[in-house]
Amino acid sequence: MKQGAKIGIAGGCLVAAVGVYFVFGRSNEEVHLVSQEAKTFWMCGGCGETADYTIKQVEALAKEAGPPAPPMICAKCKEKKVYRALKCPTCQTPYFGSDVPDSSGQCPKCNPDAKPPPPEPDEIEVPTTDEEKADQPDAPAVKKIKRPKAA
Ligand SMILES: [Zn+2]
Ligand SMILES: [Zn+2]
Repeated sequence: MKQGAKIGIAGGCLVAAVGVYFVFGRSNEEVHLVSQEAKTFWMCGGCGETADYTIKQVEALAKEAGPPAPPMICAKCKEKKVYRALKCPTCQTPYFGSDVPDSSGQCPKCNPDAKPPPPEPDEIEVPTTDEEKADQPDAPAVKKIKRPKAA
C-alpha cells in the first residue's frame, strides 16, 4: 500500500514536470518567434526615408552595408546613412537618438532648440602648480592648456 502511494506521487511529479516543460517550452518558442518578427524603426539621414525592419531584415541589410553597421544603406537614395530612429510619442515625428552623429536625441518639432551635444573643447583647465605660483605670484589658480589628444 505504501509502495503504491509512492509510485503515485512519483507519477504525479513526472506529469507535473512534463506539463511545466510543455508550457514553458512552448512559450519560449513563441517569444523567440515574436522577437525575430519584431519590427524596429529606422530612418535615413540623407533623404529622411523611414522604414520598419524585422530583425532578420536588419541582419541582411547590415551584412550588405558591411561593418561598421549601422549605418546601413538606404533603399531609396543608396547613401549609407540609415540609423535606428525613434518616433515622437507626442507628434509622431521620426527622429534619431543621441547615439547618431549630429543628433540631439530629441524630437525636432517638440524641441526645436535642442542641439546636438557640443564637441569637447580643445582646452582644459588644470590647477596651477606650486612651482608656477612661486614664479608668478599673480598666476590664476587654474590655467588653460591644450587638451591632449585621446589615444
Ligand atoms: Zn536615403
Ligand atoms: Zn514631437
